[in-house]
Amino acid sequence: MSIIQLSQPSLQTWQGVIEQLPNWLLPAVAIIALQFNRSRLAYLAILLLAYYFCITTDQVAITDLNLYSDPLLLAGALTITWFAFIKDRGLLSSHSVVRILGVILSLAVALGWIWVNTKFKITLDSYLPSMVTIEIRILTPLYICLLLAFMRGIWPSNLVNTSIFITLVLWAIHFIYPSLIPISISMTALAILYILTVLTDSYFLAYRDELTGLASRRALYNAVLSLGRKYSVAMLDIDHFKKFNDTYGHDVGDQVLKLVSSKIDQVNGNGKAFRYGGEEFTIIFPRKDVSSVILYLEEVREAIEDYDIVLRNDKRKQQTKAKRSTTQSDRKTVNVTISIGVAEHKNGETFEQTLKRSDVALYKAKKKGRNQVCV
Ligand code: GH3
Ligand code: MG
Ligand code: MG
Repeated sequence: MSIIQLSQPSLQTWQGVIEQLPNWLLPAVAIIALQFNRSRLAYLAILLLAYYFCITTDQVAITDLNLYSDPLLLAGALTITWFAFIKDRGLLSSHSVVRILGVILSLAVALGWIWVNTKFKITLDSYLPSMVTIEIRILTPLYICLLLAFMRGIWPSNLVNTSIFITLVLWAIHFIYPSLIPISISMTALAILYILTVLTDSYFLAYRDELTGLASRRALYNAVLSLGRKYSVAMLDIDHFKKFNDTYGHDVGDQVLKLVSSKIDQVNGNGKAFRYGGEEFTIIFPRKDVSSVILYLEEVREAIEDYDIVLRNDKRKQQTKAKRSTTQSDRKTVNVTISIGVAEHKNGETFEQTLKRSDVALYKAKKKGRNQVCV
């Protein structure tokens, strides 16, 4: 008896398990994605499950499947790509009706496209170059979908959209090269990808500040758990920021906050920056005493003081190109400064106590005239 024969039963058991996996994983993904408000992934998981159910339980005969292969491929491609461009909405909202109508419309468009191409095959053949065969013509929407979903998946970089693009690729492979990847494997891979996407996305949502992209206050308290006994903490606060907002408006204030954050994030000396809240930031320096971090904090303070912040003039966006060239001179630059207080962890002290002392030092810097580092 050969090894292959010996392992045949166990191979079959495994195959059975893998074939069942999507039936368990996809509903679980749908529930998890909905919990985390990622309804597009939930819809996709449900649609994929419906398709998988139909083809694995002989709901659709193989001959029918071949017959509907192109409409299904195109309808799926259109739906998946459309999902890459819409927002996540609640499942039990009026948007659900639009989603369902969208899926039906995708199928109608796919059937219509194939009908036009077969009906007018001879006419199209005579007008188009011979290399543009009917097969290529029928698959043209798929190529466009792949391009659109790819662009959406990489720019602006968004995990959900990247997962949607991968879904489209696997969907296309399933129909064009059916024997390349077994459908149970692609469905299982997609289910795992969706779960990882939802969890990673939520992690970033909780631990990243949305406006500035810096680590959030929650991330700070998480990082504190792995700090040793020796470390320094700095509190940073933008000077007269209320007045700045009053003069230039809250939107300009937000732009400036983002740019200042990016400078703070470039701190040297192994410092890790967090947005503590509002226009206040925290930097922690593991294994460093105060005397060695003052230099790095001075660097940050100077970088911000010297930074000529160019304001984006949104009104200019609405102007024509010709007009714009005459308004180049209205590029406005502004400057802000920050005050910094720093403290070193003492034995027996909690993180909150050290942070409090850095806040006291910050208050001192403000009192002494701002735009400086105080201990
Ligand atoms: P100083 O710190 O120098 O004493 O003066 P300040 O005016 O900066 O002091 P304060 O801390 O009282 O004011 C902080 C202001 O920062 C209040 C609010 O207008 C502004 N601010 C806080 N968070 C944001 C934000 O997310 N966006 C914008 N645009 N402004 C914010
Ligand atoms: Mg403040
Ligand atoms: Mg301030």
